[in-house]
Amino acid sequence: MLGLMQNQPLLISSLIVHAERHHGDAQIVSRRVEGDIHRYTYKDAAARSRQVARALDALELGFGDRVATLAWNGHRHFELYFGVSGSGRVLHTINPRLHPDQIAWIANHAEDQVLCFDLTFLPIVQAIAAKCETVRHYIALCDDEHLPKDSGIAHLQSFEGWLSGHGTGYDWPQFDENTASSLCYTSGTTGNPKAGLYSHRSTLLHAFGSALPDCMGLSARDAVLPVVPMFHVNAWGIPYAAALTGAKLVFPGPGLDGKSVYELLESEQVTYAAGVPTVWQMLLGHMKPGGLKFSSLKRTVIGGSACPPAMISAFRDDYGVEVLHAWGMTEMSPLGTVCTLKNKHLSLPQSEQMQIRLKQGRAVFGVDMKIVDDEGRELPWDGKTFGNLLVRGPWVIGAYFKGEGGDPLQGGWFPTGDVATIDADGYMQITDRSKDVIKSGGEWISSIDIENLAVAHPEVAMAACIGMPHPKWDERPIVLVVKKPGSQLTREALLAFYEGKIAKWQIPDDVVFVEAITLGATGKILKTRLREQLKDYRLPGL
Ligand code: AMP
Repeated sequence: MLGLMQNQPLLISSLIVHAERHHGDAQIVSRRVEGDIHRYTYKDAAARSRQVARALDALELGFGDRVATLAWNGHRHFELYFGVSGSGRVLHTINPRLHPDQIAWIANHAEDQVLCFDLTFLPIVQAIAAKCETVRHYIALCDDEHLPKDSGIAHLQSFEGWLSGHGTGYDWPQFDENTASSLCYTSGTTGNPKAGLYSHRSTLLHAFGSALPDCMGLSARDAVLPVVPMFHVNAWGIPYAAALTGAKLVFPGPGLDGKSVYELLESEQVTYAAGVPTVWQMLLGHMKPGGLKFSSLKRTVIGGSACPPAMISAFRDDYGVEVLHAWGMTEMSPLGTVCTLKNKHLSLPQSEQMQIRLKQGRAVFGVDMKIVDDEGRELPWDGKTFGNLLVRGPWVIGAYFKGEGGDPLQGGWFPTGDVATIDADGYMQITDRSKDVIKSGGEWISSIDIENLAVAHPEVAMAACIGMPHPKWDERPIVLVVKKPGSQLTREALLAFYEGKIAKWQIPDDVVFVEAITLGATGKILKTRLREQLKDYRLPGL
């Protein structure tokens, strides 16, 4: 017997319809490439999303056709999020930090028909336009006044010019909730990038899940600033979750440096922010010297790579901001776990609470997880045993776009490529990417632990730990370190800093001071690149 409730498909358009009806006057504020601060409401955004849908109809774009974006976080990108997906097309967000050849490859693989881009990325578009075989329309996210003359790009139009020819009346189409809504390629550290193809259903369920109090905990009382880019994994789904809850949205555009982010956090009285650790490092680096404080920020969700304990403490102790450590991936839309305490933890001393807070957290309802050994046998949840982390759920990938890479699942579970522990309370802690974990004398050493300890040293700006081949131990860890300006830190002093904090055999064999550590397109340390750079390096004593 079937239930007798209304069978309404879960569609992305319903989010913007809801936001317009129930939070029509809530604000959306954007720092724009043009240099100004743009301000309007959900009501305005909804109307312009409908214009986008009509303008796409006028281009005779088919159901399921791909519309690509190369854009910062801003109101026009937000309108495309709803106008493109809501009208049944697929929004393909491209990461502009990728190499132009890779971007052209991705655009061809996705068979993008339209490419909308911020003017910052005009040089990329100029470099790839001749190679993009399927793109028929190029749209610059600006008005006619800012549209570059002689760009060399055929039929280039401005977004404002494009929209102005179309009214705001539009009935969002109703279709199967399993229809594809947006496409995101993984950073592709090995081989060609592969893409996750999200559906309306997966996106809506993710938005419901992510807004929960023990997840992102968003509400109509929040002003949220996603520093996480809308060009990678939909800014962790925040544009959707904000529309669902009616939270004020503050988009930082191209201004991701500490000063610009700080100014916006203060001027817009932001209560909630989200970003990767490197962004927050820049923010704290800007605030500390001048003794600046936050007047409104309450919580920040940090993920994408491990959040160093020193950062959690700095936010909490120096600025009164709660850090929510989170973990996820492109293949998971992205949220998997978020770290919030349970009731029984509240009476624990701060030091013990901290041990919990630095874990990646508990599974959001909708994500099921387990750890297994190399033979696929499930491992205990004791907080000590680590194994390969597998996940499943309605917003976890079932297959890559166009079937690339074959069936990614193992018995219905998606292997994340991460190695983790899970404790008896269900808190998961990432030990490493499986390819980065250091195997020394039959034991595993977590490169994340070594890095976290290094950046806890007051003179260390950044650290990366990798394993180096060793004839006896298989591998031994070394740590690459970028010193803070003016620091006199020595190899010996840093190695001594590790003593007593981890087991002796886990202490790195060497410290290599470097000028900079390259980050990949999604803000993660590129360990493959570091290994290449150090291919002639020999461990001390070998
Ligand atoms: P991406 O698909 O680019 O978002 O990358 C996903 C990967 O980033 C995960 O599989 C993890 O290896 C890593 N990652 C994400 N969040 C965290 C975190 N909080 N701690 C450690 N690693 C993380």
